[in-house]
Amino acid sequence: MAVDTDVLVVGGGISGLSTAWMLARAGAHTTLWERESVAGGLIRTDSANGYRMERAASMVMNFRPDVDQFLSEAGLDNLKIRRDALAEENRYVLQRNQLITVPGKLGSVPLSKVWSLRGKLRMALEPFIRKGGHDGETVSEFIRRRLGDELLETAMEPFVAGNLASDPDRANACAVLPRLTALEKRYGSIVKGVIVNKLHNRRTAMVSDSFSFKQGMSTLVKRLSSTLAMAGNARIDHQFTVTGIERQGDNWAVYARSPKGSHSICARHVVLSTPAPAAAELANVIDPVLGDLLAGIDYAPLTLVHLGFDRSSVSHPLDGTGFLTPRGAGLSVTGNLWMSSLFPDRSPADKVLLTSYQGGARLPEAASWGDQRSVDAVLAQIGPLLKIKDAPEHVHIHRHPQALPLYHGNYYNRCTAIEQRLQQLTGLHLQANYLGGVSIRDRLATSRLTADQIIADLGLSAHPGSDANLPAGKVWATNQP
Ligand SMILES: Cc1cc2nc3c(=O)[nH]c(=O)nc-3n(C[C@H](O)[C@H](O)[C@H](O)COP(=O)(O)OP(=O)(O)OC[C@H]3O[C@@H](n4cnc5c(N)ncnc54)[C@H](O)[C@@H]3O)c2cc1C
Repeated sequence: MAVDTDVLVVGGGISGLSTAWMLARAGAHTTLWERESVAGGLIRTDSANGYRMERAASMVMNFRPDVDQFLSEAGLDNLKIRRDALAEENRYVLQRNQLITVPGKLGSVPLSKVWSLRGKLRMALEPFIRKGGHDGETVSEFIRRRLGDELLETAMEPFVAGNLASDPDRANACAVLPRLTALEKRYGSIVKGVIVNKLHNRRTAMVSDSFSFKQGMSTLVKRLSSTLAMAGNARIDHQFTVTGIERQGDNWAVYARSPKGSHSICARHVVLSTPAPAAAELANVIDPVLGDLLAGIDYAPLTLVHLGFDRSSVSHPLDGTGFLTPRGAGLSVTGNLWMSSLFPDRSPADKVLLTSYQGGARLPEAASWGDQRSVDAVLAQIGPLLKIKDAPEHVHIHRHPQALPLYHGNYYNRCTAIEQRLQQLTGLHLQANYLGGVSIRDRLATSRLTADQIIADLGLSAHPGSDANLPAGKVWATNQP
């Protein structure tokens, strides 16, 4: 079978789209096959009644220059909208039936009302606690060991449940908190590490830029997929469900089904950018051990309940990002984002949009609740906190049966084993949110690594000069195999 394309990317979520974009820009002949009729995967902005609602990521929280560079090269810089300054400052957590602001900086901890004196003293001991831990340590074990139980229950558990739909008692610390665990490994203490990095003016993992895009997060994926569709050396095929993959000499033969029939393609490299269960099915035939490792990655379900209100119906000033809830409060809502405070154009004038995240690993059974039960639970839980007086004028629900991969158990060993299997399968790559972080930032950063590896193998240059202002198809080199 003759080679049809340098690279076949399977799956057009942000992982697959960004990898394909980077490859095509470097001159690789790139084909992307996506199962759905539109690309973007989890990321999609729904619009109704003047409200703009996100199905998954609602913002990018960045501190990486390589991510900035990618967005600028992709011509997305002038489409960014930054998080409102006040919303940036205030992040709330629920405590004793009240919303309290969580300090964003180390220096504000002593005056914060979130922690007791005893809790603060325990945190102050952190630099004096001996280095410890192991690869299988959970987030709870790590935080309890270094910073104490109070910080775990009031801040870290709400963060892990609210942002990752995960459970700190089962989540792997090295996978979920890679920067904090690395600081301990390198400096013996998180606090010491932060201070040393500050003194040396080194890049830290503090988020320096939080943004979305005009018209919502769909703009990001639409921009990448339309650039790929226009490029001379790339193509994107929708409604192509990949059903099989097999070795063919040094290359890979890949098979797909679409409404038009059956398809096959021969590629030098294949990048699997599907969720883990789909990757497991495809990998199973070529390497059952790899298939099993991928099939063992669990996902958490999540329900998003978007509620729109008249501004006058909500007495709380909504002067922040929103709030997270600790497990001790016994709520099904893990977090509530004040979308209309974060970004402009998320709701009509004089209305507000509040998005609640329900379920996750904390309460997976919430995924099977009917719409009325989901909305009733959200209203009963956020209503008293935000002093909501009237019924919502807009309700929109989105359910993800498999929202986010859970970096649970000895995740670190699983990743090492996956990498070892891939070394025997030259030309096959895994690039999706079950490896290397779920955030858009981590997705773009790891796509860069995958793309660079393939680009080097193909003998191309990863940075072929600046062309961000030119129509992509006109400038990208073609490298038809
Ligand atoms: C509710 C929620 C809120 C979030 N909030 C944030 C946030 O605020 N900030 C942030 O940075 N991140 C956030 N995230 C995380 C982020 O949105 C995701 O991790 C990321 O979008 C996943 O991208 P992906 O490309 O890896 O996977 P996906 O988006 O799942 O893409 C996989 C693609 O593969 C396709 N596919 C599957 N099987 C096949 C097949 N056999 N053949 C062809 N195609 C196939 C699918 O159709 C899909 O398009 C959030 C996630 C969720 C669920």
